[in-house]
Amino acid sequence: MTPQAATGADILQVKGLRAGHGPLVAVRGVSFALQRGECVALIGANGAGKTTLLRCLAGVHPALAGQVRLDGNDVTALPAHRRVQQGLALVPEGRRLWADMTVRENLTVALEHRDAARAAAAAEPWSVARALQALPGLAPILDRPAGALSGGQRQAAAIARALMANPAVLLLDEVSLGLSPLVVEEVYRSLRTLRAQAGTTLLLVEQDLGRALAFADRVICLREGQAVLQAACADTTREAVTEAYFGMATAAPLENTP
Ligand code: ATP
Repeated sequence: MTPQAATGADILQVKGLRAGHGPLVAVRGVSFALQRGECVALIGANGAGKTTLLRCLAGVHPALAGQVRLDGNDVTALPAHRRVQQGLALVPEGRRLWADMTVRENLTVALEHRDAARAAAAAEPWSVARALQALPGLAPILDRPAGALSGGQRQAAAIARALMANPAVLLLDEVSLGLSPLVVEEVYRSLRTLRAQAGTTLLLVEQDLGRALAFADRVICLREGQAVLQAACADTTREAVTEAYFGMATAAPLENTP
């Protein structure tokens, strides 16, 4: 499989990224590039290395080898908070918010810690008011403690908090994990608005193959730590993705991956 060739429009370039947990190598030389404004779904079976890869990109997990470039700048050696300041933000699985603080306070703290120069350079910097337009479900819960929110509300609040950094690239880990189908719809509606209104580049881990193919521009399939398929959703089939996912031809394509 040939990684997508990097172009001048690439906002994120990942080359030969390798990461592990102790003796276990979970990400084995992964290379890909994201074009500005693109939405890419990262798929793969449990344990394929998706979360480790995302955490490595965000700088919260160390890379053993490889390079990450954001808008042309090498950020491989930067700690997580410096990557956020440069425009690479992670919405982690489990959506770690400060539970005792209200949604508004969570957002305000993120606003206060963002890179002022980056915000000043943005054509339309994110604010709490703008986040409410993109994620209208947040309005009635702004003054509620984050610890008291439902799963979907926590997800929306975590996305809004990440937006406060004015990210060029938003990394989303398992956005629909543990949410009811109706709430998942709502979260995806918000992501659609985000794409349409702000043109934010998205890299999202999604377990539901059908949803990944329907929502994203492109899909990257990880298997045993390697990117075994990278394809435009319009140019691939569910059969091809299923085969890459499991590493073998299957009798019937997946309806909904585990
Ligand atoms: P899932 O969909 O189950 O979250 P994933 O594709 O995100 O899976 P990772 O969570 O990145 O995969 O895990 C990749 C490999 O690293 C797996 O073999 C997993 O058991 C291992 N692993 C992940 N986190 C740790 C950890 N904290 N300590 C040790 N091994 C880990």
